[in-house]
Amino acid sequence: MELQFLGTGAGMPSKMRNTSAVVLNLSAEGEGYWLFDCGEATQHQILHTSLKPRKIAKIFITHLHGDHIFGLPGLIGSRSFLGGDDLLDIYGPYGLREWLETTLRITQTHLNYTLRVHEIEDGVVFEDENFRIIAQSLRHVIPCYGYRIEQKPLPGKLLIEKAVEAGVPKGPLLKRLKDGEDVTLDDGRMVISKDVTGAPQVGFTVTILGDTSYCDSAVALASEADILVHEATFDMETGNLAAEYGHSTIGDAASVAKEARAKALIANHISARFMPSDLAKLQAQGEAIFPTLHIAEDFARFEWKDGEIIRLEN
Ligand SMILES: [Zn+2]
Ligand SMILES: [Zn+2]
Repeated sequence: MELQFLGTGAGMPSKMRNTSAVVLNLSAEGEGYWLFDCGEATQHQILHTSLKPRKIAKIFITHLHGDHIFGLPGLIGSRSFLGGDDLLDIYGPYGLREWLETTLRITQTHLNYTLRVHEIEDGVVFEDENFRIIAQSLRHVIPCYGYRIEQKPLPGKLLIEKAVEAGVPKGPLLKRLKDGEDVTLDDGRMVISKDVTGAPQVGFTVTILGDTSYCDSAVALASEADILVHEATFDMETGNLAAEYGHSTIGDAASVAKEARAKALIANHISARFMPSDLAKLQAQGEAIFPTLHIAEDFARFEWKDGEIIRLEN
């Protein structure tokens, strides 16, 4: 699992930071990409990466402010041109369907794939055998959601020596055992999956929030998460503005991570008032509350591996 930030600014694009978008890259998990928010020019940002738009399988929108959705019509139109013909599911607040349908109709944008828009409420918005995604309302100036992405436990590793010892031949039976199925050998003996596989592995949990002031649902969504992505529009000195505009300071983000007992925090949605030279101060203010803090810049990539967050080179 990897996270790649395509836009980490707040409100408007700047030369340093585009508007909000982050890719949860689940290629290794066989799921393609899940995109969270799609600010203006997100598709331009993708051009500067090795990401393939046709691999975007799901899009989750936190709220309908322009800095989170103005890139959506362009991106879903281009996905058609770029050979994306698989179903695309888009999740977001009420109003998303009308806005998208109206925009696509008036601009006569025709898609060569099926687009399904899911207008969500608090609760489980998606679940299959591998993942569960929970949405909950945050505290912003318009309805805004955070998403908690839970990977379900993975089957234990196949203990190949034990399987060979039990007389399992090379081939498809090994895969079935690995997938948790008990199998019968040619000689009639039964091999129990549990006897030749290790303990199930815990899946990861990533929480990606939209714009918000400090709130209890942010803490609940991030409870024991491996990675929390939280906005940090302001610093400690401009905290009065954070409260007024439904945003957070770097301290609020760090407090949520701490109270939720998250393992790592990535701060995004950084105001253009902060120059690169200000980032050390923001980092110090956040770290004083929650040490495992990264402040994302556009194109930053993070990997979750063996229970640790790793910042990758671009
Ligand atoms: Zn925003
Ligand atoms: Zn907003």
